[in-house]
Amino acid sequence: MIVMTPQATEAEVAAVRARLETTGVHVVVMPGELTTAIGAIGDPEGVAELGLEGMSGVDRVVPISRPYKLASSELYHQGPTVLEIGGHRIGGGDTFCLIAGPCTVESREQTIGVARAVRAAGAAMLRGGAFKPRTSPFAFKGLGTAGLEILSEAREETGLPVVTELLDTQHADAIHEHADVIQIGARNMQNYALLEVAGKLGKPVLLKRGLSSSLDELLQAADYVLKEGNESVMLCERGIRTFETATRFTLDLGAVPWLKLHTHLPVIVDPSHAAGDRRLVEPLSRAAAAVGADGIIVEVHEDPDAALCDGPQALYASHFADYTRDVAAHAALLGKTLA
Ligand code: PEP
Ligand code: MN
Repeated sequence: MIVMTPQATEAEVAAVRARLETTGVHVVVMPGELTTAIGAIGDPEGVAELGLEGMSGVDRVVPISRPYKLASSELYHQGPTVLEIGGHRIGGGDTFCLIAGPCTVESREQTIGVARAVRAAGAAMLRGGAFKPRTSPFAFKGLGTAGLEILSEAREETGLPVVTELLDTQHADAIHEHADVIQIGARNMQNYALLEVAGKLGKPVLLKRGLSSSLDELLQAADYVLKEGNESVMLCERGIRTFETATRFTLDLGAVPWLKLHTHLPVIVDPSHAAGDRRLVEPLSRAAAAVGADGIIVEVHEDPDAALCDGPQALYASHFADYTRDVAAHAALLGKTLA
């Protein structure tokens, strides 16, 4: 939509119209009491490239169509996308999916111990990082391929599908071999080459929102995966940077119902990385369930004090069954049962 200034002349309106018509878009001129608006129906990129803002008489160009396409609830699908992973349904509004496990695979015993505990309590999938994005290059970066092998063992032991992060395109083959769900971390949400590689691997992708990314940007990142023909994408709100420093990040719970309105993709919440403090994790999880999330990805450890990464936010494995019961009760308020 091109909005003309109140002073724009008929000749200036005609010039804009003529310029638009060179791109083949359908043009509708709408004279108003104060200003004239010109609707351009067709390719938005082509219109953006015309540089109409520089023409005399033009006040502003307002995009009406949304920047994301394949992820959009309007443009792509009739109903919600439902992912089926290891017999569990995610999305669709009748199930709630719990993904739980350690931040990082530290050892065979630690990972399998947590996997057994979360499975017994009703988790649908096991999370755990083998390649970790760390703020400091001197921090523990995970066990790498050995960590992936431990995750595969944990899957064999418990039957839980494995969610693990693809940090770098060079790990793609190893991740493809061991992961059931490929996580794209918050720091990589706008690593477009990585998103395309993840899309091509043909496994479900859990896409985390960037630390400072808008929801429009999140959905455009999802488009990068979807355009590779991979329709199995779930989105994850994990907290964003704001002026508030009391919590590690600010969990944007409003993102959940907003995303439910604007995309057909399932939406899950990560209360652990948002809070950075286990005392907040359960209340935020209950809120996430109540606000309509399709699931939660949460960090759990048998001995959080000894954890090599993110110990302060890890739930105690021994408390996880109580946690699950409370969160499931909140999901039940919306008619959902644990996936
Ligand atoms: C994680 O899930 O372990 C992680 C590093 O999360 P994020 O990318 O959201 O920081
Ligand atoms: Mn972590």
